Amino acid sequence: MTNENQADQNGFATLGITGALLKAANAAGFTDPKPIQVQAIPPQIEGRDIFGIAQTGSGKTAAFALPILSKIIGLGTKRRPKTARALILAPTRELAVQIEDTIKLLAKGAHISTALVLGGVSRYSQVKKIAPGVDILIATPGRLTDLVREGDLILADTKWLVLDEGDRMLDMGFINDVKRIAKATAPNRQTALFSATMPNEIAELAKGLLKDAVRIEVSPQSTTAAEIVQSVVLARTKQKRQVLSKMLADEAMRSVIVFSRTKHGADRVTKDLARDGFDAAVIHGNKSQNARQKALNDFRDGSVRILVATDIAARGIDVPGISHVVNFDLPDEAESYVHRIGRTGRNGRDGIAITLCDPSENGKLRQVERIIRMKLPVIADHLGSPDPQRDPKERTERHIEPANDREQHGGRRDGRRPGSGNNGKKRFGGKPGGERQFAPKPQGERPAGAKPNGEHKPDGFKRFKGNNKRRFGGKRPANRAA
Ligand code: AMP
Repeated sequence: MTNENQADQNGFATLGITGALLKAANAAGFTDPKPIQVQAIPPQIEGRDIFGIAQTGSGKTAAFALPILSKIIGLGTKRRPKTARALILAPTRELAVQIEDTIKLLAKGAHISTALVLGGVSRYSQVKKIAPGVDILIATPGRLTDLVREGDLILADTKWLVLDEGDRMLDMGFINDVKRIAKATAPNRQTALFSATMPNEIAELAKGLLKDAVRIEVSPQSTTAAEIVQSVVLARTKQKRQVLSKMLADEAMRSVIVFSRTKHGADRVTKDLARDGFDAAVIHGNKSQNARQKALNDFRDGSVRILVATDIAARGIDVPGISHVVNFDLPDEAESYVHRIGRTGRNGRDGIAITLCDPSENGKLRQVERIIRMKLPVIADHLGSPDPQRDPKERTERHIEPANDREQHGGRRDGRRPGSGNNGKKRFGGKPGGERQFAPKPQGERPAGAKPNGEHKPDGFKRFKGNNKRRFGGKRPANRAA
């Protein structure tokens, strides 16, 4: 059979994917569309909005990318400077990089330009790349907001908008940025919103952004892949290091992600592992973008078999063949458990997830069991007696964590989401509401004497006069993706 004929046989052809795209999908090994692709591609090709409940690993990147690519290919190469035809918003830099990789793979030979806009790396090269206009821009919301604010990017021509991992955006405090960005895109745009879970805020967001959307759900909320064998090892916090090292001595643990709730904890686990003779890479929000990418690459290509990560890495990272996920501790939010263990058992492969649980974490374990709707078997018990379940003293054991050490919720210990309490007041100069539109910078040259970093702000982009080092001068909070 010729390549051409093979491509014709590709199940994507029946979904409306043709020509170069079909060939590229075939070459990438995408021959049988996944359920989300079967459901999401045809309505998007028809021009419908999509509301998808799906986790990363379900194949959703191709589900939104193929329809957009097929439409953009038909448009030719004429673009206005500083514009993007399609915008894909992702909560983390790693996910954004991964999305661009997939799009490049699927668009091979199709003359489609892509660009990444991410925090933590130089903005100069990003501005340069989007200056002539691009077909598909993949971005994290923080840096994108900066570029729009400075007039380096115009969203008025953006006719396709994808919001990936909506619930994660919410967790990271990006929701008001997302709303503002969406408002700045073309009013007749086509939108796809994906989220692994469905908190009320996401349902509200969908109501505001989507028009007559087709709702797609590929796996029931908070279910875990059937291929993942899950269990619990009971161990006190101070025993966990030894328990982990003993576990890792087993060579069957070929490729392991160890999750830690805090950044400090992740560093400590990595150091302890090194002392015990294990080479591990570490990835968390306090690491530079380069260090994060290097850790991920080393883990992906097998040069290290252990990756220690905080929840920032729990979603979006698609490293094939992860054999084990170890939860060194339980996440603050039960939903994160589902995302953590979803790093293994991908693409129908087997996976093992082991959770180390100190008696003080029993409540969190119960919450996890509630949302996954199953009781996790205890495969080892290092607690000895007395039984901590019956000893109230054990239950009050506390692990002290340094301030701002948590990846989630901006390090807030009150559990409130940054940006949800004050509606983005800090980020956008004080007016509550968080719904203000971008006021586009007047076209043409900057006024003489205007500072390139925006001394002359159009209305709606006035600088915050208080202590806004975080926003405008100093480093972005480490837990934020951009
Ligand atoms: P995603 O949920 O988009 O991150 O995709 C998860 C994994 O599935 C990625 O490694 C994709 O390359 C792969 N994938 C997506 N769709 C298909 C398909 N139709 N056939 C084979 N692999 C796929």
